[in-house]
Amino acid sequence: MISRREFLRAAGRLAPVLGAAGLVAPLWRGAASAGGRIEEILRTAPRARYWTSAALAGADCAACHGSDRSVRDRRHAHDPKGVKCLLCHHGCAIKDGERGRCRARMNVGGELRSLVYGRPLAVHLDPIEKKPFYHFLPGASAFSLGTAGCPLRCRFCQNWQISQSSPEDHPAEFTPPGRVVAGAGSRQAPVIAFTYNEPTVQVEYLIDVAREAKKRGIRAAIVSCGFMNEAPLAEMCEVLSAVKIDLKGFSPDFYREVCRAELAPVLRSIKQAAKSGVHLEIVNLVVPTLNDSEKMLQGLAEWVAGEAGPDVPVHFTRFHPDYQLLNLPPTPVASLERAREIAMKKGIRFAYVGNVPGHQGNNTYCPGCGKVVIERSGFFVTRRRMEGGRCASCRRAIPGVWA
Ligand code: SF4
Ligand SMILES: [Zn+2]
Ligand SMILES: [Zn+2]
Repeated sequence: MISRREFLRAAGRLAPVLGAAGLVAPLWRGAASAGGRIEEILRTAPRARYWTSAALAGADCAACHGSDRSVRDRRHAHDPKGVKCLLCHHGCAIKDGERGRCRARMNVGGELRSLVYGRPLAVHLDPIEKKPFYHFLPGASAFSLGTAGCPLRCRFCQNWQISQSSPEDHPAEFTPPGRVVAGAGSRQAPVIAFTYNEPTVQVEYLIDVAREAKKRGIRAAIVSCGFMNEAPLAEMCEVLSAVKIDLKGFSPDFYREVCRAELAPVLRSIKQAAKSGVHLEIVNLVVPTLNDSEKMLQGLAEWVAGEAGPDVPVHFTRFHPDYQLLNLPPTPVASLERAREIAMKKGIRFAYVGNVPGHQGNNTYCPGCGKVVIERSGFFVTRRRMEGGRCASCRRAIPGVWA
């Protein structure tokens, strides 16, 4: 994840490079106002997927009202131009001319459209360890991109400048899927990572880019909050090679109060991803006083070990004050060490300390003989002691995607 300072610095540094490569326009180009920009965005905004409305042929009342029989069984009128988005758990009911909570999907005359299709705002080449993926192509470069918009409102968001913005807030030239894949190819990046904001909001684009990438032998990965519904996640899993899901705190109250979201759908997504066969890793950003209690960490570790499996890597990463949580201190390293210890006691085989460069908890240890199989310093792999996916000392297979 990039910090605000890093994002602004990188935007300044990379925009001319990528602009020159014909990949994205420099962020300062395009003096059009936000109002003029939305007109331009709408010209390329395709019909979204995963929504319903009363006007659609064969529409099912239950798809909108869910299990609320009190509404279904009563005579009720439908807004002829209203739509219901079925992409994430919020299930926004959106009136004509309005948008959902993520700001990335807009009802235009009774049709839901994706405003972020082909509109990446941030494009960087990052080490895959930065996502973080530790058991997926270690040492690889990930061609990383993000758009505007997010269904969540995490008070600690480290990328709030884009995640909490609207597509028209930043100029972004239309970038067809093939251009993203060509950009990754020309930089010899074996992975395209959808990150920085919640990739679910760009599901249509993500799937098209990932399909195109597959043809060129490039894999796709997402860094997600896991708040999407089951059907879109199933479709994403078909084209993705790796999924990282944030399990932000093991409490429904924490999700409601700090992220304006719900815990249950995230747990459902983690189980679904674990079963799907894509490579899965989990991140828990440990925020002092908010989600670092013994009870929450124990609950999280026990749940992950039991429901996702003990081989799923779990990263306990360090919080740095950002966005609306500037009043809290950075996470003490001792808290991360305690979280890692709790996780390992609960049976998780690969628990990591994240965002603490040089910490021993960054390394991968063989669960068989205890020796270091991958040594890391910051986001870089400094030593490997693995052969063919196995520990070089005791030959135990280490779960992951290694080549
Ligand atoms: S994806 Fe966006 S519009 Fe759709 S339900 Fe979620 S927040 Fe609402
Ligand atoms: Zn109805
Ligand atoms: Zn070993």
